[in-house]
Amino acid sequence: MKKPPKAFATKLVHGGTPEPRVDGAVITPIFQTATFESTGVGDPRGTRYIRYNNTPNQLALGEALASLEGAEAALVTSSGMAAISTTLMSLVSPGDHMLVLDSLYGGTYDLLNGLLARYGVTNTPVSAEDIDGWSDRVTPETRLVYVETVTNPLVRVPDHPRIVEFAKTHGLVSVIDNTFATPANFRPPEAGYDLSVHSATKYLNGHSDVVAGAVIGRTDLVETVRATQWSLGGSLDPHACFLVRRGLTTLALRLRQQEASALALARALEAHPAVSRVSYPGLKSHPDHARAAALLDGFGAMLAFEMAAGESAAERLLAALDIPVVAPSLGGPETLVTLPVRTSHALVPEAERVALGITPGLVRCSVGLEDAAELIADFEAALS
Ligand SMILES: *Cc1c(COP(=O)(O)O)cnc(C)c1O
Repeated sequence: MKKPPKAFATKLVHGGTPEPRVDGAVITPIFQTATFESTGVGDPRGTRYIRYNNTPNQLALGEALASLEGAEAALVTSSGMAAISTTLMSLVSPGDHMLVLDSLYGGTYDLLNGLLARYGVTNTPVSAEDIDGWSDRVTPETRLVYVETVTNPLVRVPDHPRIVEFAKTHGLVSVIDNTFATPANFRPPEAGYDLSVHSATKYLNGHSDVVAGAVIGRTDLVETVRATQWSLGGSLDPHACFLVRRGLTTLALRLRQQEASALALARALEAHPAVSRVSYPGLKSHPDHARAAALLDGFGAMLAFEMAAGESAAERLLAALDIPVVAPSLGGPETLVTLPVRTSHALVPEAERVALGITPGLVRCSVGLEDAAELIADFEAALS
């Protein structure tokens, strides 16, 4: 396309495609070359090298992602954790302090309280239920606020406009993990966040066959992260870039189908006597249903439910399910189920887990692309 695409679906198909196309190729070919011939002194593109994250497949994917979130810039990384660690290492220094949401992805929790704490960066966990109280936690050393669009595993949706306003009032950089929502449902830069980070391993790639990440947002901050990436080296391989770009093309189609199935499954689970509670923002019973409807373009395809008879019932259910795969990760074509107390939250102290509502009988489910009726029938058979 000669003009940049405007509509989301058109961006999914055409975003980031070089103009003119490379040798006329409709799909950007894989540039499987570590280094590029120097094009002369004073070339603004400088030296091109995969670790520098400035080779054609990396740039094409980054441009597509920036356009999908309505952002100035984006870069891609070798995993979601590379996106998060490279971003945080870029933005904070020893002695700095961060406010972080109290229910974060386990790898992020470990990074904050392990490596970053060891390098003298402290954090205070804050609750999305009490944004008014966050001001009291700000110190002269506070630099950054770090949240997630939708939390894991209870799929809570914090009040993002208030978080953005809080960060602006206190002059803090705001960073959000937008993995669960994807740009199809929420575009953090448009909402006022400075940077969004992603595990592209999940919905962006969408096929459970690549590990990748992305950092999207303000040009000055993305360039700061890029400079850190040159040192840390977590750049994405061209072949993986190609695969993520291919997966991205069908993001909206996949997600809308998975959301329809997730809502149907959530309703069936809510009606079943063996299930005591279902957390899905598309259900009216979810505490954040109204906010999710106002802030997001879709309710997503992640849900969690509690077995009335507790942990042993949850274990028996997982063993009895036939279609879903018992595996971590999410956002692929296959329905995946896990017990958060055994996987994502195994290292979180029990008292903290209880406070967050993560109980031993809780089952997390990433709803896939299988036939919804067949999937629901499988859950109902396993429940009985
Ligand atoms: C999976 C995940 C990550 C980490 O991504 P990797 O690609 O596994 O490194 C970060 N945040 C969230 C919300 C995730 O689900």
